Amino acid sequence: MYILTAYKDNKEIFTVTRQMTREQLVFLRNTSHFTCPQCETSLRLKLGKVVIPHFAHIVLTNCLTSFSERESPTHLIGKQQLAEFFTRVGCDVSVEAYLPKISQRPDLLVKRNKEIYAVEFQCSVMPIDDVIKRNQGYLKIKTRSIWLLRTPLNIQINEIGITYLKISKFIQNFIGIQSISGATILTYDPTTCQFIYISHLMHISGTSFIAKIRSLSTKQQTFPFAQVKPLTLTESKQYWSIFQHKRNRFLRTRIRMNKHGVKDRLLKHCYEQQLRPENLPLYIGFPISESETIQNHLVEWQLALIYTLSNQQHRDIDYISDLWIESFILAQCKVFHLEKAKLVVRRYCRFLQVINFNINESISEQFISDSKILDHFEEVIVAKRCEN
Ligand SMILES: [Zn+2]
Repeated sequence: MYILTAYKDNKEIFTVTRQMTREQLVFLRNTSHFTCPQCETSLRLKLGKVVIPHFAHIVLTNCLTSFSERESPTHLIGKQQLAEFFTRVGCDVSVEAYLPKISQRPDLLVKRNKEIYAVEFQCSVMPIDDVIKRNQGYLKIKTRSIWLLRTPLNIQINEIGITYLKISKFIQNFIGIQSISGATILTYDPTTCQFIYISHLMHISGTSFIAKIRSLSTKQQTFPFAQVKPLTLTESKQYWSIFQHKRNRFLRTRIRMNKHGVKDRLLKHCYEQQLRPENLPLYIGFPISESETIQNHLVEWQLALIYTLSNQQHRDIDYISDLWIESFILAQCKVFHLEKAKLVVRRYCRFLQVINFNINESISEQFISDSKILDHFEEVIVAKRCEN
């Protein structure tokens, strides 16, 4: 386990920084004694060639459980860079400060005016329940938490702009949990010293999203963190074209798969509505905020919803009960979070009302203009998270 902070000669807190030279550190190692601020056992100052200078326990202890992750060299470097960043923007920073009341040791404890923040730089995957538990711990001592995820390797620095990308389930958990402009994930890349914003996340299916990627170096970043700007008209057009392209490709693949004799509910629904899948109107497979909780493709669950509704005796989108939505979801969708999924389906129903979709007429009989749908599309991607 690698750590940066130790008790020096039993009296002062000492943190290894990038500014310390090797000679200074060798001298310190020979003249001082270091102990762990938490378990109080002896630490060795390590000055190897692979990992940046750090402390390690001489005898293995279980004090690493107070950290959110077992340390890796990348994590160590990132933590050091972030400590410099928060210091530069005028915060009072403690690296690896042990909080005895909650037995947690955030990577950084940052004080600014009267606010205290626990900053966790997370490089590895951890159970989301542990993230929630750690946040609850911080809340108990009136400390806000900031989770900065290490920039995923699939988001290269040259991918700045609007792009289609895969986002792991672990990272998806962090969408919109910090008050940074709606559906945004803030990450940090220690290899380039850049904050990478993954914003305006629009879910398509499973782990597939469209998002805007933007970078901000530690020199340009501020604290509180810079907010994401709304999309420009050109950018929202880019979203629309990537979105349509992906939707068409999904439908074509489905048709091709069916030639190989795959039984398919989506194609069955199309057939019964007398529609060719490639001619499905744009309001089926329409992006809905927070739809990542439903694993199925947008086209699949939305067509299934319209199909199920149109086979009802009493058809009225205005009066769909919670129970009806719940049984629809359980029968037709794979979801991560039932209550969230219910909200998402409800949002879609509201969208159908806004575009004057008539459930008593078949899909092929009614005309809803693309421009009306496009108007709503722009509202969706600029909309804030968690609106109803
Ligand atoms: Zn220890």
